[in-house]
Amino acid sequence: MQKRLSNWGNYPAVVSDEIAFTQEDQLREYIAGHSQMIARGNGRCYGDASLGKHSISMLKYDKMLSLDTTNGIIDVQAGVTLDQILDIIVPKGWFLPVTPGTKYITVGGAVASDVHGKNHHVDGAISGHVIDMDVLTASGETICCSANNHSDLFWATCGGMGLTGVITRVKFDLKKISTAYIKQTQLKAGNLEEVIRLFDEYKHYTYSMAWIDCLQKGDSFGRSILIVGEHATPEELSEHQRKAPLTLPAKRKLTIPFNLPSFVLNTFTVKAFNWLYYNKNYRKVMHKVIPYEPFFYPLDAILHWNRGYGKAGFVQYQFVVSLEQKDGLIAILKRISDKGWGSFLAVLKVFGKQDSLISFPMEGYTLALDFPIRKGLFEFLDELDEIVLQYGGRLYLSKDARMKPGIFRNSYANAARFADIVKQYNPDGRFESMQSERLSLIK
Ligand SMILES: Cc1cc2nc3c(=O)[nH]c(=O)nc-3n(C[C@H](O)[C@H](O)[C@H](O)COP(=O)(O)OP(=O)(O)OC[C@H]3O[C@@H](n4cnc5c(N)ncnc54)[C@H](O)[C@@H]3O)c2cc1C
Repeated sequence: MQKRLSNWGNYPAVVSDEIAFTQEDQLREYIAGHSQMIARGNGRCYGDASLGKHSISMLKYDKMLSLDTTNGIIDVQAGVTLDQILDIIVPKGWFLPVTPGTKYITVGGAVASDVHGKNHHVDGAISGHVIDMDVLTASGETICCSANNHSDLFWATCGGMGLTGVITRVKFDLKKISTAYIKQTQLKAGNLEEVIRLFDEYKHYTYSMAWIDCLQKGDSFGRSILIVGEHATPEELSEHQRKAPLTLPAKRKLTIPFNLPSFVLNTFTVKAFNWLYYNKNYRKVMHKVIPYEPFFYPLDAILHWNRGYGKAGFVQYQFVVSLEQKDGLIAILKRISDKGWGSFLAVLKVFGKQDSLISFPMEGYTLALDFPIRKGLFEFLDELDEIVLQYGGRLYLSKDARMKPGIFRNSYANAARFADIVKQYNPDGRFESMQSERLSLIK
């Protein structure tokens, strides 16, 4: 069926021929007869990574295959969403080992982007928790792979953006919890130096991230709120929460029903939002025990919040630079603050070590910022790309919609090795996305 598709940033949009399937044989037959196809999960990447001429929707391939509640292991078809999994595992005392900032993604999408969460410095990315998975390759063969078996396929599929084939099944480990709550601490940092110092001081916390007010200049340049957390124990809950420690109270969600006009988000509104957000934390240090949902998924509380950026859409710019190259982080924040193109969402995290082919994380600081699409934006982001490159950093493919191929090639050291492995499983480039074409990812 021909459909107009776009991902979370609403840019770019394409008309694509979309198919869905419920049986693996249907998918095998489809793959045999097509080229220029790419798997699509729940479209929560921001740019064009899951857009192509032929789109293979995973959303109907969504059966839970097994759940071992003794050892914390789950086996699912790749179209199952994290949201569906959480509904089942949390009441049984288990949690996801790694989760991104939205639970509305599929397991296949999580592996193909090798997603990270607020705990990367402690638990790594999702690839480190996959026990094994099945990949349906261009030849029609389904290969079960893991870190020890067909390991080249495994590592090229983790973070490989759907280019080795379609992930159909994933088995991964879970994290034991005794409540559905998080013990959270929020700390105000007056500037960037202070938040970097606080990250280090609080690095023993499993979860951490900071929200940065990127429009500040002078002494308060980079003022932030660091948020750290741990899964709460029953003893840490209020009497009311302790009555059902693994169940969350039901909450209604707000929704943005249509695209807002683009003038709603401008420097003035971003400044006002940032001022309110920073000052709402009236004390320097605040402790709270809160349900896991607002801690991990604050943005999921407003359905379709991406429409707030207007019809033209937006891009999310996420880069990482090593711990030693924090001057790169400062240089980029300075460019943004000077330009006055602030972002509501400017999130800073620290990654731990990770070896990979083209997965995004590497030990260092990662900053994610949203920019509504406007005249001159792509030229401005090209300038930022050069700074990232100059400091040895790289950009996250899952957020990208506009990077140039040279930036990708020069920032991902294993790009050529990745392309060589992909050629073994996808020799004629029949799995390809707009992004893989734009960046020559497998050429
Ligand atoms: C609000 C928000 C917050 C986010 N926070 C984070 C974060 O903290 N950390 C993080 O790492 N990411 C984050 N992301 C990005 C998101 O987690 C990834 O883009 C994820 O891959 C989206 O999964 P999806 O199921 O929607 O897949 P899609 O967006 O549809 O596809 C993403 C990629 O996965 C491939 N793919 C999907 N399914 C399969 C399959 N079955 N087989 C092979 N390839 C497949 C696609 O081809 C594409 O390359 C966030 C996104 C949003 C919208």
